[in-house]
Amino acid sequence: MITQEQINFDQQHIWHPYSSMINPPPMYPVESASGVRINLSDGTELIDGMASWWSVIHGYNHPELNKAAHEQIDKMSHVMFGGLTHAPAIELSKKLVQMTPTTLDKVFLADSGSVAVEVAIKMAIQYFHALGLPQKHKLLTIKNGYHGDTFGAMAVCDPVNGMHEIFSGILPKHFFAPAPETKFGAEWQIADIQPLKDLLDQNHDHIAALILEPIVQGAGGMRFYSADYLREARLLCDQYNVLLIADEIATGLGRSGKLFACEHAGITPDILCVGKAITGGYMSLAATLTTTKIGETISAGGAGCFMHGPTFMGNPLACAVANKSLELLLEGSWKNNVQRIETGLKEGLSEAKTLDNVADVRCLGAIGVIEMKEAVDTTRIQKLFIKRGLWLRPFGKLVYVMPPYIMQNEDLNLLTSGMVDAIANYN
Ligand SMILES: *Cc1c(COP(=O)(O)O)cnc(C)c1O
Repeated sequence: MITQEQINFDQQHIWHPYSSMINPPPMYPVESASGVRINLSDGTELIDGMASWWSVIHGYNHPELNKAAHEQIDKMSHVMFGGLTHAPAIELSKKLVQMTPTTLDKVFLADSGSVAVEVAIKMAIQYFHALGLPQKHKLLTIKNGYHGDTFGAMAVCDPVNGMHEIFSGILPKHFFAPAPETKFGAEWQIADIQPLKDLLDQNHDHIAALILEPIVQGAGGMRFYSADYLREARLLCDQYNVLLIADEIATGLGRSGKLFACEHAGITPDILCVGKAITGGYMSLAATLTTTKIGETISAGGAGCFMHGPTFMGNPLACAVANKSLELLLEGSWKNNVQRIETGLKEGLSEAKTLDNVADVRCLGAIGVIEMKEAVDTTRIQKLFIKRGLWLRPFGKLVYVMPPYIMQNEDLNLLTSGMVDAIANYN
């Protein structure tokens, strides 16, 4: 049981994500978590609608993931990856190569999603540098994107929504196309791709890569856009000698209904970032995959190697858990579960469409979004969710869920009906 003194210390000394040191938001102390439930210290049980930011796909406290961690920790928790290697990293990379499109066969193990994005950007820039085209060092992206909180990643987040406006003066200037307008599954509007085409046409000499979140734009707006847009973008990248970086850190590993969201469009990126769900939410790990051509071109360049290598690269403990997590994913019934959750979310959340304060309701895969007409007060609405036994963390106008894939229909019903009820009572 957590003490008031501990809570006070937290409020006075600890930064939480996007938190204030003079007006700290209320914190709910967690004692334990199991399956789809988070147990607060005061005994309250919450159904988890967030999967701890897309990551806990198999549920908390999973016996097999626990076992994988225990077994690995008794061998070694960590060794440096420079000059040393180990089975957990090899097995994980083998799985990643197998799961992703065949051309993606060089793996960089990164320690977080943001680092995986930095690595992807550096790969693209180093590739053109090695080809004798160092002026191709800018990036192209689409508005409403989110790619992480580090400097390279921030520079390609939405310039307004991307949470990083304050830093805009010191961030490298890249090219931004408007966010795709054609919604996922809607009839393709060819004009939608024109601004991207124009930017490429005018600036391709300076652009190394187009970076985007395929199909689902996550933290930058929870938007689901047309697979045709992605297909056209792929074609344009080829036409203008620009690499395509697919940031599948949120969408990858089944969340959108496909193992990777790029599959909705049948395209293969040149560089792919995976993260979040890779260890089933046990610890931080991510990966950046690329092709033999890019890997070999970089290595044949002046530097003779790829210029990145974090201290905790390929951490054996994280790799061992990731191996088990991917095994559970591939052997299990993620596809049926995600489809079942999509149906449950569509049915359960549709009622919210009739509410006065709701602008839009949309679902794709195991992602459900209620877009409000106005930005919500997170603290106030969270209280309504907690009262109904739910854990959600809305931002801006977006009240959204992405539950663990193992959530059963009964809990899913409690989650969706509780959300709708809380929103109906929020004013
Ligand atoms: C979360 C996220 C990141 C950043 O990952 P971290 O592990 O938080 O650094 C990058 N890209 C996308 C699409 C994400 O959703």
